Amino acid sequence: MSHESVRVRFAPSPTGALHIGGVRTALYNYLFAKAHGGELLLRIEDTDSQRFVPGAEAYIIEALEWLGIRFDEGVSYGGDCGPYRQSERRDIYRKYVQQLLDAGKAYIAFDTPEELEEKRKTVANFQYDATTRTSMRNSLVLPREEVDALIAGGAQYVVRFLVTPDVEVEVDDMIRGRVTFNSSVLDDKVLYKSADDLPTYHLANIVDDHLMRITHVIRGEEWLPSAPLHVLLYEAFGWRDTMPRFAHLALLLKPEGNGKLSKRDGDRLGFPVFPLRWVDPKTGEVSSGYRESGYLPEAVVNFVALLGWNPGNDHEEVMSMDELIRYFRIEKCSKAGAKFDYEKGKWFNHHYIQTSSNERLAALLRPSLEAAGITFDADYVARAIALTKERAQTLPELEEQIAYFFTAPTAYDEKTVKKRWKEDSAAQLTELAALLATQPEDLPSEATEEVVKAWIEEKGYGLGAVMNCFRLALVGAAKGPHLFDITALLGRGETLQRLQRAIEVLG
Ligand code: GLU
Repeated sequence: MSHESVRVRFAPSPTGALHIGGVRTALYNYLFAKAHGGELLLRIEDTDSQRFVPGAEAYIIEALEWLGIRFDEGVSYGGDCGPYRQSERRDIYRKYVQQLLDAGKAYIAFDTPEELEEKRKTVANFQYDATTRTSMRNSLVLPREEVDALIAGGAQYVVRFLVTPDVEVEVDDMIRGRVTFNSSVLDDKVLYKSADDLPTYHLANIVDDHLMRITHVIRGEEWLPSAPLHVLLYEAFGWRDTMPRFAHLALLLKPEGNGKLSKRDGDRLGFPVFPLRWVDPKTGEVSSGYRESGYLPEAVVNFVALLGWNPGNDHEEVMSMDELIRYFRIEKCSKAGAKFDYEKGKWFNHHYIQTSSNERLAALLRPSLEAAGITFDADYVARAIALTKERAQTLPELEEQIAYFFTAPTAYDEKTVKKRWKEDSAAQLTELAALLATQPEDLPSEATEEVVKAWIEEKGYGLGAVMNCFRLALVGAAKGPHLFDITALLGRGETLQRLQRAIEVLG
């Protein structure tokens, strides 16, 4: 690739939980950085105090950590370009705002929110720009002394960018190619507000990308309309030569494909749209997360990576983080929106559960098993998992699959009882129990199977009849893996107890 060293950033605003689309943006930045031997920064863009949500920053950091997306610099990581939280960089921004003012590329405006509202009401499609700015209260119109006097008197003001109308602005996008905009579509964006002595997103974003030596900006499509403004800002500062290259990622769409994926789609269709569970600090509203819903981080990463990118036809879709780094190409990202195919996410999770070690899965289930009052025996749990994981798509499903290994059934599936439990069942299971009592303590699967089957044959019992009732007694239902694998794990004592109990209860 090129000689310049790649530096990219993920720059979320802490306005709530990190949406799965934000996870994808962070992931693509990570893959891009790693693929090019570059660096990834985490910058928190918290200049909008109105939208600041406590806890959101910590949530973002924890979520990315869980997913294995590691940063080289940034909030909670440190580095030479800090502080990485924009609210701590006021002094830096002030200087750059002044630079634009001094160069006549920005101006001071005193219009109050009420005045602006009035304009919007009376002027159709009002936009603060070349056609309207001369009829507003700003330093382009007011005499210098009046501006100074207003500021000295403590009047609130904003600094606006002076956009020259009707120039073609080109945005060179790594995914979309060249996109041109006419500057007349832009308004004179607010760059700074005296009220909180903070810049707005646009100014802080550009200044920081410059100072942090960012080479590529990979972000969501919703920022594409801001890109021409950003290009003009780079020009105004004289930073055109080191301007980062852009890549705007297509939207994530609803599973049906019509419109943008929203939190409500998740609620409606029953899947998480957040990496971790999130409790809204204001409303207390709880949103589900992939982690708490029993997804493995590598499944989420693999699934999310393929929302809008794929490694080409002759490649497997299952890819580890290292493989994703190897195959990821930003130019190969789709321009069209990517449908959020939740079923695919489940498929990946099922796959990664199968390829995970039983010990790891056991450790993941431990907190929840212990919360249910089960004494955790790592080896026993791992063996139960080995027998059942084939059927599990999520960790809670896995836990449900192994439940009867810890708790003997107290009730028996009615339908199965009706169908399988016959008049002679109790007598047969009593004989079976007597037979098993003579077998070794650990009831080795194959040997026990042989003994039991020989006994059934000798007695002329129905194989199905005995086995189904046996299973009902052990599991409480007509489900589960190979019966003699179950008895081998339960052991002789527990198996006999369960037989006894079924005989008593079902009679
Ligand atoms: N703070 C913006 C966000 O929340 C960053 C956009 C960008 O990456 O430039 O998405």
